[in-house]
Amino acid sequence: MVSPFVLVVDPGHGGPRSFGAMWPSFPADHGLTGEKLERALAEHAKTAAAVEKDINLNLALALQHALEGSGWPVLCELTRDTDEALALETRAELAAKHGADFVVVVHCDTSAERATAGLWTYVRNGDAPAMAFARDVMLATPRALRRGTNEPTIARPKPHWTVDAHAVISHYLAPAVLIECGFLSNDRDRELLCRESGQALVVAAIMAGIAGYWHRRESGNA
Ligand SMILES: [Zn+2]
Repeated sequence: MVSPFVLVVDPGHGGPRSFGAMWPSFPADHGLTGEKLERALAEHAKTAAAVEKDINLNLALALQHALEGSGWPVLCELTRDTDEALALETRAELAAKHGADFVVVVHCDTSAERATAGLWTYVRNGDAPAMAFARDVMLATPRALRRGTNEPTIARPKPHWTVDAHAVISHYLAPAVLIECGFLSNDRDRELLCRESGQALVVAAIMAGIAGYWHRRESGNA
């Protein structure tokens, strides 16, 4: 009897205040604070073509659905399956409560440079299982979604090199990978991420990471 592998998927952002990236982006020079800023952000999100918190959730639900239909011995739990606000620490507590063997944190990116595109992964320094997982995901990511299309170093995940990325994955007890699934500021990425068939491409790449991790774990190499 194979014991199920518990994968916790953590869709970033959520709730009435944490929208994540949006397209069109919210103006940086707004000069608003407190409740005024919150209200303006909420208004902006209503008419935005893409809101990261919703895309993250859709990707997480699609991944859970794909795993349930895969017949793989993987139990997939989400930190949130609705539009709910969760603190980073709470997300880590939920992952621990579910008995996570591995955590996939799902976000999307944005950039002032509209040509910037592609999926990228972040892991903590020294988190070898997460590094291997991230590499598998990036190798399985279709060329159209890879950052720097012909870049030969594409399969080398970044150790956390931004403060933000570190904060997002620093609290988990289990190996954890942050996947920035694409740029909402890039027309092609956004179109893919907003479409079910485009989301399926990202899900398939993450499934490749899960398959590789599972294989290494079963053969005692994880
Ligand atoms: Zn985000």
